[in-house]
Amino acid sequence: MSDMFVNPYTFIGLGESKSRSSGNGKYTGVLSCTMMTLTPLIIPNAANEHAFSKREQRVVDRWNKKNSSSALREESGIKSYDFYSYDNPEGDRENKKSSPVIPGSSIRGMIRSAYEALTDSCLSTIDLENKMIDGRQVGDVIGHFAPCKDSTQLCDACNLFGMVGENDKRKYKTDTGLKNKLNTVASRVMFRDATTSLDLRDWHEEPMILAILEQPNPSQAEAYYKGSVYPVNGIKGRKFYWHSDDPNIRKQNDPNNLNLTVIARAVKAGCMFTFDIAFENLTDIELAKLIWIISIGGKTSSNEGSTHGFKLGRGKPISFGSVGISIDYDKSGVFVLDESLNIFCDSSMLAKLPRGAEYLRPKATFVDRCKIQI
Ligand SMILES: [Zn+2]
Repeated sequence: MSDMFVNPYTFIGLGESKSRSSGNGKYTGVLSCTMMTLTPLIIPNAANEHAFSKREQRVVDRWNKKNSSSALREESGIKSYDFYSYDNPEGDRENKKSSPVIPGSSIRGMIRSAYEALTDSCLSTIDLENKMIDGRQVGDVIGHFAPCKDSTQLCDACNLFGMVGENDKRKYKTDTGLKNKLNTVASRVMFRDATTSLDLRDWHEEPMILAILEQPNPSQAEAYYKGSVYPVNGIKGRKFYWHSDDPNIRKQNDPNNLNLTVIARAVKAGCMFTFDIAFENLTDIELAKLIWIISIGGKTSSNEGSTHGFKLGRGKPISFGSVGISIDYDKSGVFVLDESLNIFCDSSMLAKLPRGAEYLRPKATFVDRCKIQI
């Protein structure tokens, strides 16, 4: 390991003020997308936490030998996961291979966080009750970038991806009346699961023992400070991981703490998945932004390849999960509902859309961070 520690993540600063957005448009349709894994990808199938039990046992045996101890496997906390799939994940998966699936919810979260960063939207997933170093709650510091909770005051991302208002969360159990439901905003973009027609012999890496898969969180509070001198008002911004491709930081072959040991089967780099994004009632500007963000300013057509990427799944700090997305316009379609409620196809408008960047005040730093340099 190198002496110099390079932080695997960086921060994209917040804008001056949170974006505001309301209403919807007339464009409904489907974007057909291709996703390419640029480094190995891990989406664990959590339904079976001991998918490679024999490998777990070998790790425990090695550890016992080294430590002259009689630690039992049950006490070790070691876990092992196959890649997510639709098949029954039970039993030992060593000799079973299912077609890998990337859940639409994972893709959605990934695109939404980029959308939030590029549209100066709220920090929808932040935990307001986290404490900062000086004891203040995050919620008191991030001010108007706190997650939207009022359906009449939405940021760009919440207006498009939807949100659950505060009232709903608190009263859902006891009161499902219309009044509270009104505070929920439905999403106008739906992400389908990404699947592959890969030959099952070819898609997977050997299950590997990973360096710490979960990012430990001691610096959570520190992360929300701006600058290096405490205390100051404000926060550093939104956290994003660098793209890197270093097999050595992916593997850890001599685990010292079995409770942190995870074995996982990853999908190889260079695998191709396809998925659809269905959308409804978007304005042309929203559609332009969505399309631009899917490719983060990189090449937008599938035959040009990815120049910019996202981070997906687990192990982001240890160089897993870089993916590039492109849109296949020939398979995508847009339908328009006119005033007389006639639906007509207007897929040609996809090619005529203005560049989303014109609406985005694109943040050079953000786009830079997404550049593939691996
Ligand atoms: Zn919001």
